[in-house]
Amino acid sequence: MHKIGIDLGGTKIEGILLDEKYNTIQRKRIETHQENGYDSIVKSIISLINELKAKTGEEASVGICTPGITDANSGLVKNSNTQCLIGMPLKNDIENILGYQIMMENDANCFALSESLLGSAKGYEVVFGVIMGTGIGGGIIINGTLHKGRTNIAGEWGHHTLHPNGNQCYCGKQGCVETYISGPALEKRWLELTGKKESLQPIVQDLSNEKVKQWKEEFLVNFGMALANVIDILDPDVIVLGGGVSNVSFLYDEGKAAVYENVFSDLVKTPILKNKLGDSAGVFGACLLNR
Ligand SMILES: [Zn+2]
Repeated sequence: MHKIGIDLGGTKIEGILLDEKYNTIQRKRIETHQENGYDSIVKSIISLINELKAKTGEEASVGICTPGITDANSGLVKNSNTQCLIGMPLKNDIENILGYQIMMENDANCFALSESLLGSAKGYEVVFGVIMGTGIGGGIIINGTLHKGRTNIAGEWGHHTLHPNGNQCYCGKQGCVETYISGPALEKRWLELTGKKESLQPIVQDLSNEKVKQWKEEFLVNFGMALANVIDILDPDVIVLGGGVSNVSFLYDEGKAAVYENVFSDLVKTPILKNKLGDSAGVFGACLLNR
């Protein structure tokens, strides 16, 4: 059966149609237009699905990758940075319009699934896929299967407490991992230290000055503690990094060393790898939800 994957992002909605062998038949990107609200996003998704489906003469499965988690009990979207989705029964609404069942998972789970089956983590049994971007997410794949957990939150290391009484998080708690090593958190810390509003890419280009040293040291300590906690519990065979922050090259040598320092084992050799699929992990992961 052909597979349709939709990656619903804050600014773009991407759709892909694959054949049985995962060859790409059609790919299309449209604007999300969050400002037009929930109903307009649902309409855009439906028209994209129908357009892709029209390219194949047969039935196609549909998987959707979303920002935020769909609550296991209520079916409502929660913890999404695309705010108008919060509290909405997105999966249900789309199924009602299409008239058939679809699969839906959050972006970190789709990322982990695609990197595990088609990307950097191919061949590893237990995979922890990490998204470090606007938010911090994670997904666990065991022998090619997504481990969602009892309430769909398995792998959500972004809201572990790193520093009690630390930075305020949108989730209501203080000191969450996300408030220290997400893209916006790192840029905010840079602004506090230097008075300069800069994005991550130029910050990491010149790592020689004193201010950068402090910023980098804090980043490494937080990254090391946060991922070491994950390793202590899951002890995965590999960790794959994705999202904008995964482009910071020192995470793969100094970052890895900082993680190892904090793990409860002298034997730790867990590979920490950069993703292979880049921005395409979402659409492929969405397709792979139907296997
Ligand atoms: Zn939080």
